[in-house]
Amino acid sequence: MRLLLSLVILFGVGQQSWADKNLDKVDKLSSALSDSVKSKSLYLSLLNSSKALDKGKIQESIYVLGVLGARLHKDLGNYKIYTSKLKKNYPKSILASELSLKNLSDACKKCDGSKTSERNCSKCKGTGKCKNVKCVDGQYDGFEYIDGKFTSVKKDCSTCSASGICNGCEAGKRMAKCTPCRGKGYKYNARIALAKYEGMITTLVADIQTVKVESEKQGKLAKGLVEVDGAWYTKDELELKRKKEELARDFAEKDAELARKLAAVKSLEEEGLNLLAAVEATTADKSEQFIVEIEVYLKKNPYFSKIEKLRSSLSYCRLIRDGQKYEVKGSVDDAIVTYKKALQIKGDQQLSRKLKKLGKRSIGL
Ligand SMILES: [Zn+2]
Ligand SMILES: [Zn+2]
Ligand SMILES: [Zn+2]
Repeated sequence: MRLLLSLVILFGVGQQSWADKNLDKVDKLSSALSDSVKSKSLYLSLLNSSKALDKGKIQESIYVLGVLGARLHKDLGNYKIYTSKLKKNYPKSILASELSLKNLSDACKKCDGSKTSERNCSKCKGTGKCKNVKCVDGQYDGFEYIDGKFTSVKKDCSTCSASGICNGCEAGKRMAKCTPCRGKGYKYNARIALAKYEGMITTLVADIQTVKVESEKQGKLAKGLVEVDGAWYTKDELELKRKKEELARDFAEKDAELARKLAAVKSLEEEGLNLLAAVEATTADKSEQFIVEIEVYLKKNPYFSKIEKLRSSLSYCRLIRDGQKYEVKGSVDDAIVTYKKALQIKGDQQLSRKLKKLGKRSIGL
């Protein structure tokens, strides 16, 4: 039982899937092959590893490499096997179409791609002269029976119509299908084939990486993970992340609100200090004008740091106003009492002088 449990743990947790393991093997082999392109053993191992792969782009690429590599390694057996595998499994393979002889060739050096080349005429063996061996400059020696005896005469050659020139060529040369390229104009070049092979291996290595990344992604999605900005989260982690972000946003908003409030409090405090300074700097006769201003401010800011001082300033201003009213009505004694109270709050030379005058008036001086 315990053994079974450990086996389950050993194979069940953190194991790659069968398909992923095969892809890893193919990845290692193709990377190694790209480092030593000419290795036949790596080439054969890569072909072997393709058997375990699912049908798809990677397997198709390896089959194509199978054909091209067979040409480079002169391995007729694998050439036949992988040509038929490609035909059977990937009949419309675009990659396979790159294996055409023309794509692995360069222009024929003999005919420079023109498909024909100059050759000695076989009729005249390159001489350019009439092929009739008896013909000399279009004529040959013959005999005619003239006046009862055979006489030697020159006769026109019918082979060359008396021209003396070979009618199958031009000056002994004629154009014919090029021999080295068999009239194709191009010829297989192993260096070009090797470069193509190398390029295909590089592409294969890159394709495997893409497939691996995609497969990893699919695996994570299958496990229910979610991708956000390139990082993977479980649903719970994502929920937690969202809550944290929400909380952070809330805090930021509250901080901003608090900062706004603090700024407002600060400015209100400054307003109060300025008002207090203005009241203290003014002379007694002009104090009355601050009454309304101080009343309004005290309602607006019950938390002013020097509220007691401002309240006593208000009392002072009110006493001055009341004293002035008594003066107008002629109640000199009341005015004196009131002004004295004011003087207890704040010393003022102007007010002291006024009090002396009023004192004299009250005793009739
Ligand atoms: Zn040629
Ligand atoms: Zn000729
Ligand atoms: Zn002739």
